[in-house]
Amino acid sequence: MRIVLLGAPGSGKGTQAKRLQEDRGWPQVSTGDLLRDAVSAGTPMGLRARAAMDAGELVADEVVLGIIKDRLGSADAGRGYILDGYPRNLAQAEALDGVLAELNQTLDAAVLMDVPHELLMKRLTGRRTCSKTGKLLNIHFSPPEELQACIDAGGELLQRDDDREATIDNRLEVYRRQTEPLIEYYRGRNLLSVVTAHGSIDEVYAGLVGVLDDAAFAGRGA
Ligand code: AMP
Repeated sequence: MRIVLLGAPGSGKGTQAKRLQEDRGWPQVSTGDLLRDAVSAGTPMGLRARAAMDAGELVADEVVLGIIKDRLGSADAGRGYILDGYPRNLAQAEALDGVLAELNQTLDAAVLMDVPHELLMKRLTGRRTCSKTGKLLNIHFSPPEELQACIDAGGELLQRDDDREATIDNRLEVYRRQTEPLIEYYRGRNLLSVVTAHGSIDEVYAGLVGVLDDAAFAGRGA
């Protein structure tokens, strides 16, 4: 299946996309991860992207489109993929339609991960990655023994640069202004499903799989 995951920063798109990738074999295509890799590697694209990312703004559409085109055309995306963090505004959604047409592909579903605003802030400010194991954790919600396991393994709990409070406010505002209109865009194409995304990871995943199976059953995908 070819899926767009929509949702505010902190709605759990990345966590759920990783799980879906493991379960179903469709690669997670996260523009945020691809941009962070480019920034770490110091590529020209990374240098262009960095200032916008640090400010919580969107990176220029043409930079992100270049990444997406390469990625969706690659061999492992042949059976499907999960777009996590793309598109993020109407121009990107229209550009994506163009790329799909070129590749002779169609989308099967756009899933909105719906989370109340108050929870997003806690999820984002608390989010950490274990430097040793790469595990995603949250200082507010992860069981203490999981946080301790990272420390005991000699790891550190790292915070993403753009998960600081001032940047988070801006990222949420950018989402509201630029990304939320995509909900209507995909509803109008009869592709939208909504998943309640404030339960446990397992509950949210069950909801996600449920709507994807419904979409596949409705003849939108396989
Ligand atoms: P994420 O990991 O999806 O929250 O993305 C982190 C940051 O990467 C965002 O705040 C943007 O600065 C940038 N970014 C990720 N995806 C896109 C996109 N589709 N368009 C523009 N900027 C993006």
